[in-house]
Amino acid sequence: MESKKKNNFGSLTESIGKFDLRNKIVLIPAMNRTASHLIAATFKGFGIQAEVLETYKGLDLGKKYTSGKECFPCQITLGDILYFLKKEKNKLGDFFNPENYLYFLPTADGPCRFGMYNKYQRMVLDTFPGLDKLRIASLTTRDGYSLEGLIEEERSLDFRKASYLAAVVADVLDRLQWRIRPYEKQEGSTDEFIERSRGVMATTIEAYSFRKEFDKILDKLEGIIKEGTTLIDPAISAKPLIGIVGEIFLRMHVAANQDLIRVLERHGAEVVNASLAEWVNYISYDRIKSAKYDFRLNLNQLNFASSKRYLKSIIKFKADLLYQEYRQKQVYKRVKRLVDLVEDHKIAHLERILEKDDIYSFHLGTEACLSIATVVDCARTGYNGMVNVFPFTCMPSMTTSAIVKPLMKKMRIPYLDVSYDSSIQPGREATIRTFMHQSYQHFQRYGNIRANSNCKISARKNLSVLTE
Ligand code: SF4
Repeated sequence: MESKKKNNFGSLTESIGKFDLRNKIVLIPAMNRTASHLIAATFKGFGIQAEVLETYKGLDLGKKYTSGKECFPCQITLGDILYFLKKEKNKLGDFFNPENYLYFLPTADGPCRFGMYNKYQRMVLDTFPGLDKLRIASLTTRDGYSLEGLIEEERSLDFRKASYLAAVVADVLDRLQWRIRPYEKQEGSTDEFIERSRGVMATTIEAYSFRKEFDKILDKLEGIIKEGTTLIDPAISAKPLIGIVGEIFLRMHVAANQDLIRVLERHGAEVVNASLAEWVNYISYDRIKSAKYDFRLNLNQLNFASSKRYLKSIIKFKADLLYQEYRQKQVYKRVKRLVDLVEDHKIAHLERILEKDDIYSFHLGTEACLSIATVVDCARTGYNGMVNVFPFTCMPSMTTSAIVKPLMKKMRIPYLDVSYDSSIQPGREATIRTFMHQSYQHFQRYGNIRANSNCKISARKNLSVLTE
């Protein structure tokens, strides 16, 4: 596959957007292995062919067709799609037709570079013969990841609900893995069990999501959790609890973050990573705020037609958020009867944390909103250390670091920034080991939420970070 120079800026509008997914093979990037496969299963349940892209094998291609100024996740995803297309072309020969596929690549409305990934990748694809025919199906944060235009209107709400459930189930499976693995009786048993369970849940979701038989999906999940808890060795005592926040792709992409969770576990940690569903909830929450702002603005200008439009948006996004929070709560309620997994906070709770001490504003947007509030909340409620994971030069994550680092010093909680760009840093392991040593000392002094009787941290729940 050789690239040739060609610029067709019209394709930025014509070949990126909401396209009918029927009769296409939808190509899904593997940001998070569990979530990508369960979301692909949801697509299949709704009669849409879907395939999760192999990831990280095409990184050389991703680097070859970027300049080095792009964010690391852009290089990874570009490499993944080019690698897939190259392999598919070799496999199918003359039968390879790029029009048969849709590349599924969500986007955002700024303020960072994420909003430009799909346009940049479009331009790169257009330089290869025939690949201008491969269209990019893009969900956007601007309309709260609306699925309108991708699937028949009468099924789009059901599809959205089923996809959200798949995301929550993926979060639960991931958290189950991190809950069991540090305490497993037999080394390697957790990974083998989770890999098998991922397949079971994918089959179950594919079979029941279309008919909205969500209880059957949750019954299967309960069975998996019951089996999973038998892998835990009760004789292994609680370990320092480490929270992870940061940029969503790097947090979740095991190869890109050089298997950070496992490295922390090797040095004695139990880890809880921020979830995928939290991000989806944040997008709905942010859309409500934005629609409220536009509603007030237009009302003040006596522009009633626009006010009415924004009022409708407020109602729609509120309905989305209420449904998502209800569904997430329902899943965790069932799960927590069987195992003490950490549950996500409501986004409104995270905003209140920031407002109380005036440390950041949701009006500024980005993942920094979630990361800063989560770090403060975890520091107050029983964690022994916090890690901020991000691609090298990631704007929201550097904002998080600038705000959170002095606060953690004040609260005497070990804190670590780790950035990745695929290079191997010889000093990284020593930094993580030092961080874990500090976290262990914190754990010995204060306990944590796992070592309940010994937890002396949660008493600080309502203290201001500025006075601690
Ligand atoms: S969140 Fe960070 S890594 Fe992602 S596009 Fe924005 S700056 Fe780049």
